[in-house]
Amino acid sequence: MKDKVLAFLKKEKKYCSGEEISHELGVTRAAIWKTIKKLQAEGYEIQSSTKKGYKLLGTPNIVTPSEVKEHLQTKVLGQTIYYETEMDSTNNKAKELARQGAQEGTLVIADKQTNGKGRLGRSWTSPEGAGIWMSLILRPHILPQYASQITLVAGLSLCEAIQEVTGLEVGIKWPNDVVVNGKKVCGILTEMNAEMEEINYIIVGIGINVNIMTFPVELPYASSLRLEGGEEYSRSSIIQTFLEKFEVAYNTYKSNPTLESIRERYEKNCITLYKKVKLIKKNEEVIAYATGITNEGALSVCYEDDSKEDVLSGEISVRGLYGYV
Ligand code: ADP
Repeated sequence: MKDKVLAFLKKEKKYCSGEEISHELGVTRAAIWKTIKKLQAEGYEIQSSTKKGYKLLGTPNIVTPSEVKEHLQTKVLGQTIYYETEMDSTNNKAKELARQGAQEGTLVIADKQTNGKGRLGRSWTSPEGAGIWMSLILRPHILPQYASQITLVAGLSLCEAIQEVTGLEVGIKWPNDVVVNGKKVCGILTEMNAEMEEINYIIVGIGINVNIMTFPVELPYASSLRLEGGEEYSRSSIIQTFLEKFEVAYNTYKSNPTLESIRERYEKNCITLYKKVKLIKKNEEVIAYATGITNEGALSVCYEDDSKEDVLSGEISVRGLYGYV
């Protein structure tokens, strides 16, 4: 109902009387009035005049299903959206929905997370109204050991989507942080539920600092697209562009689960490569030169004693020698 009234007002772009809308949609004028109130509460600027009716003046920068799904060009990803203004963690909600049988491509979005999660039990700051906090439920028919590669596919799609929408110079810090001017603007947390040979579901949790203006002092390497680009960006456009790019890359990946088809693009965008980095594993730190990405998604490194290794992302964090990247 809400979507229909909104679509009508967006299409008409002029004052429409309650009677006109109720006639068009086949519901009572009282129902229209209630729906208008709900839309106004979501942030839509709708002028109402007893004589002329209702007119949509402005669309807010929000991430409700109606805004995200409008003109969304995917077949599966994001076609079902579960949205709440506040959640503890979108990954937790997505896991709950996946356990109840939610389909592949179901997207969970919150305007604010009260207990957002990062990798290795870390927390993710997720204030309201300015970020994208979302989790995608996937059910690929691939072996569980390949699941971590999907994070890299998602990271690349995210990097390319942000580049396209904002025009900013965006890079990937292996395995999947998106970085602008050496600062972290997005993080991805992938969680999986699987049997020996089969994946029940994968949750790809994504946090994007879109229009956040200040960060806590404990996060000196965090930034937002707005702080780096100097302008406000549409949150729903970023979600749509990401879903469209990721759907293509994900389908290619499922038909042949190796990173071969995207490796060149990933390496081109990866700012971790061809320099010395610090590898942090539990409390141990080692310096290594990063030489490439394997088709399995590992980071190939060469240590100072000339020995070589392909390290997997599971338990490792990478930092630059003098800062975050
Ligand atoms: P890593 O950098 O090791 O890959 P994660 O991707 O799991 O770690 O991110 C978690 C870390 O990111 C937290 O420990 C915190 O330092 C930082 N962080 C938390 N919230 C944000 C945020 N909104 N933006 C950028 N960095 C954040």
